[in-house]
Amino acid sequence: MTTSTHPSAEPPPGARGGGTVTDRLIDANGRYAEKFKDPGMDARPVLRVAVVACMDARIDLHAALGLELGDCHTIRNAGGVVTDDVIRSLTISQRALGTTSIVLIHHTGCGMQTITEGFRHDLELEVGQRPPWAVEAFQDVEQDVRQSIRRVRTSPFLLHSDDVRGFVFDVTTGRLTEVTAD
Ligand SMILES: [Zn+2]
Repeated sequence: MTTSTHPSAEPPPGARGGGTVTDRLIDANGRYAEKFKDPGMDARPVLRVAVVACMDARIDLHAALGLELGDCHTIRNAGGVVTDDVIRSLTISQRALGTTSIVLIHHTGCGMQTITEGFRHDLELEVGQRPPWAVEAFQDVEQDVRQSIRRVRTSPFLLHSDDVRGFVFDVTTGRLTEVTAD
């Protein structure tokens, strides 16, 4: 894959009708806020759990896990990979906001399986600057879940690393399969 192969410049369906996609979202927010009632919660997640998941658009984490507003911290990135910045968020989640459990979710058909670390090299050639971050591409999704579990368990910054479990979400069935740590 080359980074020069940019996705289509065509506007997405939601942008048609005069406004941008962001305009559409702002309109939706206006309707949301009209019905919104202050839930009276503080910032500490009710279930004391942080969920780290891929940013994939097909995963509705709250619906898939039966979560309600206020229940959890949700930390998402490309792949659901445990990067330094995820450790940063988990550390704040545990030490400042009281979470004690961590759920890691990768999924079938992840975009991170379609690219390689060559993405970073191609990007450097294209823009003239090497990105400071690793791409964190992977081929074996279960192996990457295990790697993520290990990164959490070996972090010196977290208070709680005993209740850490990892899963693969099947985007075609909606079902989670647990990956056991090795
Ligand atoms: Zn993904």
